[in-house]
Amino acid sequence: MQLNGYFQFSNNVLALADKAIEMAQPVFRKIEETAALNQQKVLAAFQKNRVSSIHFAGSNGYGYGDIGRDTLDEVYADIFGAESAVVRHFMISGTHALTVALFGILRPGDTMLSVSGKPYDTLDGIIGIFEKNPGSLRDFGITYREVTLKDEDFDYDAIESALLEHPKMVYVQRSNGYSVRDALRIDKIGRLAAFVKEKSPQSILMVDNCYGEFTEAYEPTEVGADLMAGSLIKNPGGGMADCGGYIAGKEEYVTLCADRLTAPGLGREAGASLGQNLNLYKGIFYAPHTVQEALKTAVFAAAACSLAGFQVRPKYDGLRSDIVQTIGFGTPEGLCAFCRGIQKGSPIDSFVTPEPGEMPGYTSKVIMAAGAFTQGSSIELSADGPLREPYAAYLQGGLIFESAKIGILSALQELCACGLLGETV
Ligand SMILES: *Cc1c(COP(=O)(O)O)cnc(C)c1O
Repeated sequence: MQLNGYFQFSNNVLALADKAIEMAQPVFRKIEETAALNQQKVLAAFQKNRVSSIHFAGSNGYGYGDIGRDTLDEVYADIFGAESAVVRHFMISGTHALTVALFGILRPGDTMLSVSGKPYDTLDGIIGIFEKNPGSLRDFGITYREVTLKDEDFDYDAIESALLEHPKMVYVQRSNGYSVRDALRIDKIGRLAAFVKEKSPQSILMVDNCYGEFTEAYEPTEVGADLMAGSLIKNPGGGMADCGGYIAGKEEYVTLCADRLTAPGLGREAGASLGQNLNLYKGIFYAPHTVQEALKTAVFAAAACSLAGFQVRPKYDGLRSDIVQTIGFGTPEGLCAFCRGIQKGSPIDSFVTPEPGEMPGYTSKVIMAAGAFTQGSSIELSADGPLREPYAAYLQGGLIFESAKIGILSALQELCACGLLGETV
């Protein structure tokens, strides 16, 4: 790798990076192919919906008649091959979008069946998995059931028996979150969708699509999912959205969700866009490319870290369906050095040193590196991990590969400075 004097890395780190880049080339070509297909989808949706500068104007107050907002919903629906979508900056996060979808669909007496094991940690209190906390689904009389994955795939025998009860919702989390497994690929989700439709046609298949958008050529709603939700400070916001979330799927279900988001009867008609339309349009337009940059960052990091002797998941050339890269360092020193280096190599707050700290809901301390323009954005280069075995960092994002690559190099340099890199090249 060529350096022009702004950054210094030891020869050992540079040699590792060169080798990793060489290994990654064929994988990069595949990532570029997917991005090219997804960019066509996005461009075609903009053209079909005749997106024009009037859509960027926005609204205030009640936000009635905001054609920018309404057209953005159509654009998202077309991109995701869904009947309908609701995209709003006032869904405050991915967790909020998922909450709106769950409460929009489920009614007292209904059952939610998760078929990908325990959902993302932030949903514990929303579902009421461990206790009947006030306001949770459980508090509203909704039953939660769970089937864990088997050999990295859906456990069809267990799902078949659970479907005998005809749960109102079958729930899938595409990305691994903080559990140690690979993301669920779109072909697997498609197969599950066909199975659910056959065994229990009235069940609604909902997918937590966080981190998954544009990592493959199709989205869950294109292969049979009835509903999906995600965060705009992850993939579909393209690094441009300041905040927000989306829900997409069958018209009937999206309408129920929109009624829960605002108020029954008001649904999608109200809710001012407050100057956010332009950012959200730009974000979804950039998203396939931004996801490409994040995937390249993940692949490069996987290649470099496995050359350095660390455990990585997925492997650099493994199939992906999200932007998350897990790297197991085996020691707290390794995990902390890596996160310090990522922070040092970031555009924002590069002068800050992350330290492990207590986090609500975690038994062990957690360390986080996040040098991002948008607070909590994980489409921007970020890494975090709990200080417990296997001392794994969850790395994601990277708006610009050229910059994220410096971030990874700076993490390797930090490992090197701590004597944790060894003579591996
Ligand atoms: C990030 C994430 C969420 C929650 O999103 P927030 O925006 O952090 O609230 C839910 N599920 C998965 C799989 C995620 O990656």
